[in-house]
Amino acid sequence: MNATHDHDRRGTSTLAVHAGESKRKACDSITDPIVCASTFTFPDTQSIIDFIEQKLPREEYGRYGNPGEKVIESKLAALDGGEDAVLFSSGMAAIVGVFMTKLNAGDEVVFFDECYHRSREFCAKHLSRFGVVTRQVKQCDYEAMAAAINDKTKLLVSESPTNPHQSIVDIERFVRIGREHGVETLIDATLATPYNIRPLEFGADYVLHSATKYLGGHNDLLAGVIVGSREKLDPIRYLRGIMGAVNSAHNMYLLQRGLKTFELRMQRHNENGQAIAEFLDAHPRVEKVYYPGLESHQYHEVAKRTMRGYGGLITFLIRDADWRATANIVDATSIPRIAPSLGGVETLIEQPLVMSYYECTPEERQQFGIPDNMIRLACGIEDTEDLIVDLRAALDAN
Ligand SMILES: *Cc1c(COP(=O)(O)O)cnc(C)c1O
Repeated sequence: MNATHDHDRRGTSTLAVHAGESKRKACDSITDPIVCASTFTFPDTQSIIDFIEQKLPREEYGRYGNPGEKVIESKLAALDGGEDAVLFSSGMAAIVGVFMTKLNAGDEVVFFDECYHRSREFCAKHLSRFGVVTRQVKQCDYEAMAAAINDKTKLLVSESPTNPHQSIVDIERFVRIGREHGVETLIDATLATPYNIRPLEFGADYVLHSATKYLGGHNDLLAGVIVGSREKLDPIRYLRGIMGAVNSAHNMYLLQRGLKTFELRMQRHNENGQAIAEFLDAHPRVEKVYYPGLESHQYHEVAKRTMRGYGGLITFLIRDADWRATANIVDATSIPRIAPSLGGVETLIEQPLVMSYYECTPEERQQFGIPDNMIRLACGIEDTEDLIVDLRAALDAN
């Protein structure tokens, strides 16, 4: 357990509201200002020199960050129990920033194969052009992961829970494999958030979140963050300044505002997820439900041991339904909005076959585990009973 930070003694909501913020702000405002500035002025030449010699903490130029971003980086570091955090303009920019910083030509990276497909694609299709080798092993096959490591391996990467199959990684075991081989570990914990699990406490080197999802929480912004030790993050922050994948001041204000209610939202997402998963599990029209909070779930024991709650995402299969019959159920719901993404206050629904895998062949879909009758529901914070009544009507009528 990482208990070196004062913040670790505070609860999630106290941190979400206050961590990283000064008590005394510009104009005695209770909220942080939105500082719209592409550049920052120096009173004289000596203060430039003081800044370069790191005697004067301050801003310099917008591509190296902005004051709002720094406040939220401290807040997110505190929420995950990490020393530091680096924000990017999207979750993918954060992932790309980590890979571009840590991997050199000839290095290898090993993924569990249910990891977010765009991050695997970036490594397999793009970093390969620069001589980085990507290996993928079956999700949660720890022996295969250990066997895939050689002296060129630099990073082990997994998502947990995974999307849409909701596999839960035994992070302790995953981290142990990395440590035994001297390889760093990264967990994409976007679906769990620091409310439900804190991978750094299990020894992971990096935790990554698409802040577009639960951290922002209102389906109105894109951002990404990587949390870990200052020493490991400093080179990532430096490369970000060159890549330029920083956030605007307005975007950061939205994220900071969204984070104030982080714990309250997560409690409702967890409650809705559990209650609706149980409702679906008992409905005769539903063949199978993937939700880590159900006892029948393949990884329920690991989830129960390591997680505080199981989030708002539910994947389920419709009994005896082809793709059209399944689509009819999606179309018949009235509260959920049909859209990709998850983690916002609005419930979203989608059929993975159509939304993300339409251009794949049936064989590829089978390989990825995406049957025609699969629906993904990302529960928002609406009233549980309203969502259940709505889903029941759609299932009963189709
Ligand atoms: C959405 C998502 C990402 C990518 O984040 P963006 O903010 O969309 O770039 C990465 N990982 C997971 C698990 C996600 O859900």
